[in-house]
Parts: sequence; structure tokens; C-alpha cells
Amino acid sequence: MISRYKVSLKNLRIWNGVDETIDHGVDAVTIENGCLTFVGSSEDLDTTATDSVVKDMSGLSMIPGLIDAHIHLCLDPHIKDPLEQDKLTRGELLQGMTDRARAMLEAGITSARDLGGGQWLELEVRESINRGEMIGPRLICSGQPITSVKGHCHFWGGEAADGAEALKVLARQLEHKVDLIKVMATGGNITHGSRPVDAQFDEETLSTIVNTAHKHGLRVAAHCHGTSGIRNAAAAGVTTIEHCSWVGDEGWGKAFDPEVVARIVKQGIWVSPTINSGWKRFAGNSNFADLLHGNYDRMREGGVKFIASTDAGIPNVLHHHLPLAIPVFAHFAGLTATEALRAATSDCAEAIGLGEVTGQIREGYSADFVLYDGDPTSDLDLLAAPVQVYKQGESALAV
Ligand SMILES: [Zn+2]
Repeated sequence: MISRYKVSLKNLRIWNGVDETIDHGVDAVTIENGCLTFVGSSEDLDTTATDSVVKDMSGLSMIPGLIDAHIHLCLDPHIKDPLEQDKLTRGELLQGMTDRARAMLEAGITSARDLGGGQWLELEVRESINRGEMIGPRLICSGQPITSVKGHCHFWGGEAADGAEALKVLARQLEHKVDLIKVMATGGNITHGSRPVDAQFDEETLSTIVNTAHKHGLRVAAHCHGTSGIRNAAAAGVTTIEHCSWVGDEGWGKAFDPEVVARIVKQGIWVSPTINSGWKRFAGNSNFADLLHGNYDRMREGGVKFIASTDAGIPNVLHHHLPLAIPVFAHFAGLTATEALRAATSDCAEAIGLGEVTGQIREGYSADFVLYDGDPTSDLDLLAAPVQVYKQGESALAV
């Protein structure tokens, strides 16, 4: 729902989603019809219109609404076995998705990219939210991921034995009006019989998928744990590499390949590492923590662009926990607070195709923002406690 009123907020600290620091000369915004129509100094606010309301926000900081680049709205994170999820009725599934969408928005997540389910229910939720019938983030949805026969998440219905079958799965997603295509380039953890290290498609098949998606104006997200799958996805020119875990025969994170990193950077591919707040547990295992730090350091130093993501919906990863994940993401990926926030706002928006719409506090952009008591650009832990959340100019929290 897009709010029609005109309201101005003043005396804010505003981080615009891009700059390294806060510009203290910019402390006011005006919202009209769900958009930011003024971003500047309180002194320059136009308060002459008779319907104009000005609110004093002294003491609060504003940042763009957060974006999670990888969620599964259909998955209940409290159910461990994905096959058990299928036993839920359509009504139970939709109720769970409704509750999770609301919790996400209330936590400050104003947009999210859904990377897969089996029944396109998240697309129904996307439409309900867009029509203002349901409260939740703006959703970008992939529908059924393309996977190999008995491959990762095959139970969602996207199995393909070869390139021709992959295009049939892709066409089915187009019929359901998806926003992007998801492909499982390697096996994964939650599927019995699937191994994260194994590539599921060769470079040629992935290229066919990418080229066809592009013809329809769609981007491609590739699930990649093993290095051979990362290599294929990078060569095929997918838009985002999910997880990027560098799994090899020696184990998790042990097959880092600088040549593949160079390819990722050359192709302008974003890496979405799905670091959730539960990764804090790895800090206690110094060998594994060092391995992760080393891989992220080398990716970052090689020029890889990261976006924030959690894989919410997998066991114990809650949909509204991106704000808790961002400090952990900053820690492992070696990012400053501002870099991590950029990865969760303007950069994330650009990577998922919303770069002209949201992710920045900027005139003409959707009025999607979060207010905090204190400055999250110097303390990421503040993200856990939003004072107010606005999506398209509409406040999501009771004042
Ligand atoms: Zn996922």
C-alpha cells in the first residue's frame, strides 16, 4: 500500500546507503505518495503546503531499509526436514508465510529476494503485499530452482536432466511470472543424497540457462558450494553466486581458487555468502574460523563484491534475523560497518535489480527506511532494535 499523505521528518542523522560517512548537512526528508521527494537540510524544507506535516526526529538515525538477498519464505525454520514441510496444508503454509513476512518488515527488512519454493506461494504473497492486503517486504521471487535429477531441492519440482529440460523448467517459472531464475549449480546440505561438493550442471548448460533468462530480462542466482560449480557459474556469467563455500574433496572451505575469484570479479558477479547470525558459533572453532576469514579476506582483496543474505528458512535461520546477521557477516567477511550496511542496502538493491527503486535515501526513491536510537554506522548491534520502520512511506511499527 502506498501512502498518499505528505510528511516531512527533520533533525535526523541520515546515512544515505552509499557514502562512507553521514553528511550532517542533510537531516530532513519529505515523503509523498510513498516516495522520497526531498532529501536535504531542515532549513530548506518546504512547509508551506497546507497538508504538510513536519515531525521532529531529534536523536534518531535513518538508514535505508534492509534487504536480504536470499530467503525462502515458504520454509518454516523450526522444521528440520524439508520433506516434513510438504505435509503442511496450503492454508498452514500461507499463514506461516504471512507471519514471517510481517516479522521481517517489523525488523527493518523492507525488501527481500526469495530464492525458491515448490508451489509459487511466495509469488502469491508478493502480489498480496503489492496490493496492500498483507504486510511485508517487497519481494523478488525465483519460484522453483532448476536442479538436476534427484539434485539439491529436487522436491520443489525443478528437476532437469539436461539443457533442454532445464529450459522447460525455466519456461514454467516464466509462466508463473517470476522475477529471476535460480539454479542449483552444486549439491546442498538439506537434500538427502546430494553432496555440496558436486557440480550439478556443466558450464554449457548453465550458459544456456543464463542466456535464456537474459533474453527474458531476468537475472540468475546460482547456488554454489563446491568449487567446480562456482567455476562453472562464474564462467556462465550468473548475476549472483549464493554461498560460495569453496568446498572441495578435502572439505568445507578448503578448495579456494584465486583464478575463479578473478573470473567472478571480471564478470561483475556478486557473491551472496548467506552468513546468518548462527555463524557466531564458528568463532569458537579457531581452525574453521581462520579458514573462513582467510577465504573471505582473499575474496575481498581480490575485488569481490558482497551482498548481505541469510538463507532464512533453512533450519534455525529465522526470517527476521538479518539485522542480527549483519554484524556477524561484517566480522567474517572483514567489512567495516558502513561496507556491511552498503551490502545490505544500496549494493544489495543493485545486485537484485532494485537499484533504481530502493536501497538509498535519495530523492525519487521509495520511502523505505529504518530509524534507530543511535548511529548504526558506528554500532551494527543497534540494528537489532529499530525504533521505526517505513516501507513506501508507510510506518510498519505501532508508534
Ligand atoms: Zn537457499
